[in-house]
Amino acid sequence: MKVKMILSALTEAKSPFFRPIKYSLFPPLGLATLAAYLNNDDEISIVDEHVEELTLDDEPDLVVIQAYITSAYRSYQIADHYRNKGCYVVMGGLHVTSLPDEAAQHADTIILGPAGDAWTRFLTDFRARCPEKRYVASVRTLDGKPPIRRDLIKRERYLCPNSIVVSRGCPHTCDFCYKEAFYSGGRSFYTQLVDEALAEIDRLPGRHIYFLDDHLLGNERFANALFDGMIGMGKVFQAASTVQAILKPDLLEKAARAGLRSVFVGFETLDSTNLSDHDKYQNLNRDYGAAIKRVHDCGVMVNGSFVFGMDNDDETVFDRTVDWAVANSVETATFHIMTPYPSTELYKRMVAENRMLHQQWDLYDTRHVVYKPAKLSAESLERGYWHAYREFYSWSNLFKSATKKSDMHAQLRHLSYAGGWKKFEPVWDLLIRTRQVTRMLPMLESVLAAYGRFQSPQDSKLSRRSEMVPSGTQ
Ligand code: SF4
Repeated sequence: MKVKMILSALTEAKSPFFRPIKYSLFPPLGLATLAAYLNNDDEISIVDEHVEELTLDDEPDLVVIQAYITSAYRSYQIADHYRNKGCYVVMGGLHVTSLPDEAAQHADTIILGPAGDAWTRFLTDFRARCPEKRYVASVRTLDGKPPIRRDLIKRERYLCPNSIVVSRGCPHTCDFCYKEAFYSGGRSFYTQLVDEALAEIDRLPGRHIYFLDDHLLGNERFANALFDGMIGMGKVFQAASTVQAILKPDLLEKAARAGLRSVFVGFETLDSTNLSDHDKYQNLNRDYGAAIKRVHDCGVMVNGSFVFGMDNDDETVFDRTVDWAVANSVETATFHIMTPYPSTELYKRMVAENRMLHQQWDLYDTRHVVYKPAKLSAESLERGYWHAYREFYSWSNLFKSATKKSDMHAQLRHLSYAGGWKKFEPVWDLLIRTRQVTRMLPMLESVLAAYGRFQSPQDSKLSRRSEMVPSGTQ
C-alpha cells in the first residue's frame, strides 16, 4: 500500500517574505508516530510542506493529512485534490477534532482526538475495505507505543530534529487551550512508561533534545524517574513547564542535572484578574520573579510566553510586560495575541458575548485580532503586539536584560542566545534555503551546554545537595 502523509503549511510559512526558521524547528512527529503503525511492506512517505515542495501528481492508496487551524484551508485544498483523483483521504489533528463537521466535507474519514487506537481501528477497517467516516480516540495510553518512524524524517531540514513527546496533554484547564476539547471523553493527561521514554531518548543521535510535551514536569513522579534515568546520558534539552512546577522543591534541580538548559514557561499575564478569568489557577498567587530566579540559579534559560488582549489588558500592558521581562532577565520571549480557538471554553464565551469578528482560520495565528477586545481596539492590540516584540528584542533591552546576570559568561550567553535567535534572521533564512540548518545544531548544543556549566554558587550547593539524596526520594 502506498501511503502519503502530509503536514500542510500555511501560505506564510512558504513565503519568501516571512520568517521561515519558525517552521523549520521540528519535524512532523505526529505523522511519524502514526507511520509506526503501518506495515513493513507499506510504501510510506512523509511530506512536510513547511520545508519541502509538495508534489501533487501522484496517486497514493491512502493520503493522511494533519490539519492545524492556520493550515486548515490548505489541508482542505490538498484533500479535495486527492479525493478528486480517487485517492482515499483521512484527516486528523487539532482543527479536525475542533470542527469535525467542517473537516468531514473534505475527507473520506476523519479521526478525532489523540489518534492511537482510533488510527489502528481505521487501518484494520481500511485494509478490509470497510472504513467508517469517523473514528473517535477512546483508549488513552502510550504503553507499548511502537517506536516512532524517525527514518522517514528528513533530519537535515530541521534545527531540532530530536524533538520528542513522552506525555500527552496537561493536568491544567486554561480556558483558551485546545487541550480540553482535544482530549474530551477520556484522560487529558498521561505519560509514557518511563523505561520506554528513556529507550526512545537513548535512540536519539547527538546531544540536543527538544521535549514538545505541553508540561514535561506535570507528573512529578514520572518527571523524577525520567530525569533520574537521564542523568549521566550527556544530553542537553529544552522543555516546557509551569510556574507552579518550577517552584516545587528539587524537581527543577534534578531536571537541570539531567540536562535541562532552557524552559518554556507560560506566564501569559502579570494580572491576577486575567489569570482567574481564564482559569489559569496554577499561576495565581505565584511569585513569577522567584520562579525565574530559581530557573536561572539552576543554570537554565527562560523562554517566557505572554498573551495580550485579555479583558483586563489596556494600552499599558505591552510596555509593562516587556519591562518586567527585561528586569527579570528573561532570555527569550514569545508574545501572542489572545486567540479564541473553536471548541475552547474561551471561544464559547466570546460567541455568547457576540465578540467573535470572523472565522478566517488562517488568521487565527496569534498575530491577528479575531475577536473584540474589552479595553483595547483591535488596531492598538496588533500594534502593541508588534511593539512588544521590537522592544523586547531591541539591542538596548537585550543588553539591559543580559547585564542583570551575575557574571560576564552568563551575560555573553544571554546575548548570544537571544541575539542569535532574533537578530540574525537573514543568516537563518540562508541556512534554511540551502538546507544547512542542521549545521547550526552543534552551535546550539554548545551554547546550551555552556549555559549549564556556569551556575551560581547557590546552585552548586543545590546540586551537591541533590547528589546526596538517593534517587526516587526527592
Ligand atoms: S498549562 Fe498550557 S497546556 Fe496546560 S491547559 Fe494551560 S495552556 Fe494548555
